[in-house]
Amino acid sequence: MVSSFSTNLFANLTKGEKMDFITLNNGVKMPILGYGTYQIKPEETQKCVEEAISVGYRLIDTAQAYFNEEGVGAAINSALKGGVKREELFITTKLWITHANEKEALKAFETSLKKLGLEYLDLYLIHQPFNDTYGAWRVMSRLYKEGRIKAIGVSNFYPDRFTDFALNQEIKPMINQIECSPFHAQFEAQNILKEYECVLQSWASFGEGRNDFFKNELLSKIGSKYGKTNAQVTLRWLIQRGIVVIPKTTRKERMKENFAVFDFALDDSDMKAIASLDNKQSLFFNHQDPAMVKWLIEVYKDKF
Ligand code: NAP
Repeated sequence: MVSSFSTNLFANLTKGEKMDFITLNNGVKMPILGYGTYQIKPEETQKCVEEAISVGYRLIDTAQAYFNEEGVGAAINSALKGGVKREELFITTKLWITHANEKEALKAFETSLKKLGLEYLDLYLIHQPFNDTYGAWRVMSRLYKEGRIKAIGVSNFYPDRFTDFALNQEIKPMINQIECSPFHAQFEAQNILKEYECVLQSWASFGEGRNDFFKNELLSKIGSKYGKTNAQVTLRWLIQRGIVVIPKTTRKERMKENFAVFDFALDDSDMKAIASLDNKQSLFFNHQDPAMVKWLIEVYKDKF
């Protein structure tokens, strides 16, 4: 059924029964839909991730700075015991600013890996474009070459910084995880990433509900054609643009809802209509604002 849709505009997209996969510039296959864990409390994380895996999610996105890697690790452990194969899972974590330097990146990586209970990581990202990201990348590149990380990338690198970074690295980032939603559509950023064969991964695909996202009339009108919700229409719109999505929810029925996006396809007029919602600005903050940079550098400084 799904394979009959003619929406595969991307040579690096493989369609499956229940999930599509995107192939990164190093040949690694990654599910195009995953489960995000930002703002999930440590004590709730194991249960949520176990439920997400039971629904069918295999890509799990966490971070050193979410303080819930142990919960993710516990859920992975129970999934493995329950018969899920390690190769099926795609686990991402991120290196926070405080340790994003040549001296501390290795220790931070080892700590994350231990908390997750893993022998290797599928994707490791530099969480923010601050501190000694070049030094951190040298460490990550070594780990990648040793096979301890299957893919490496960055997050929150905007086009200027990304271009400089990619042009000056032997190993180019395979992923850039940035804010991307109908309200901040990132068409220009995506075009720049394509030049470097870097895949865009969207955070806050729903803008965390800001701008009355879940009640947006245009999205609801399009959704009513397919019997789908604003969340599903948006995930589908991003997936059809070749963007990897990682919606977060603590509610199982919403995990199921967000997963049910491979049984319909938006047409060209829907795709264009949703693009008209783009305000070309963040719903959260500006990474180029010095006060925000200072806040980000200081916020978790004493928390590790
Ligand atoms: P999001 O996925 O846009 O939105 C999550 C919010 O939407 C939650 O409040 C959730 O509430 C609600 N929700 C989810 N599905 C829903 C549905 N079907 N219907 C109604 N409400 C729904 O925001 P996000 O968590 O910020 O972003 C997703 C992931 O991206 C994160 O979890 C994290 O893994 C990653 N991220 C990365 C960065 C970065 O700097 N790299 C920054 C932010 C996020 P309930 O939980 O109550 O259902």
